[in-house]
Amino acid sequence: MASGGNTTGGARRGLMFVLSSPSGAGKTTLSRMLLEKMPGMRLSVSVTTRAKRPGEVDGKDYHFIDKTKFDAMSKNGELLEFATVFDHHYGTPRKPVEDALAGGEDVLFDIDWQGTQQLREKARDDVVSVFILPPSAADLEKRLHTRAQDSDAVIAGRMSRASHELSHWAEYDYVVINTEIDSAYAEVATILKAERLKRERQTGLSAFVRDLQKQLAK
Ligand code: 5GP
Repeated sequence: MASGGNTTGGARRGLMFVLSSPSGAGKTTLSRMLLEKMPGMRLSVSVTTRAKRPGEVDGKDYHFIDKTKFDAMSKNGELLEFATVFDHHYGTPRKPVEDALAGGEDVLFDIDWQGTQQLREKARDDVVSVFILPPSAADLEKRLHTRAQDSDAVIAGRMSRASHELSHWAEYDYVVINTEIDSAYAEVATILKAERLKRERQTGLSAFVRDLQKQLAK
């Protein structure tokens, strides 16, 4: 059970914190900031069949695997969810997530709407989902170009897919517009802090209140 981040400082049930957005809306930066600044949270590192981009590290950003390995993992039930995005396969390895939750840590997911739907079907009470919106289409395009990781053709593909991805915003628990990264981070962190405080996630509360009542009865 996790501790910290709640009123009693007691036991807490871990949650699955999902960030989704069209590519380039700032989700990766927000994920990095959360992992740096919020203790008790671990990133779920996905498997993917897409090629590694410059600067990406195998095992840290993704586990880069081939289609044969991906199919085997999916067939053996080793993936908690999986989806095809931009013609590539992506999936969440099940075991690290289960281990983190069992150890009382929260798990952060950078996955698309298809994966979010699957997680919600499997573990509704434990999933907290946040959709990140860019402030404008021009801003999204600028960020994709600044990132300079993809060719113009790939960027054009991502822009045209963005509109389809955006259509899923209403399936999420929260929506944050990323006009400025520090304010967007503050909003996402507020969501996480509030969700950690939910009564049903503070598993130590009953004992805490019983103890309070005992003291009051004296
Ligand atoms: P990228 O190739 O830009 O890293 O990711 C493309 C899209 O795939 C992003 O929207 C990202 O959130 C999503 N994605 C990454 N990993 C997973 C995963 O394991 N499952 C699902 N469903 N989507 C993922």
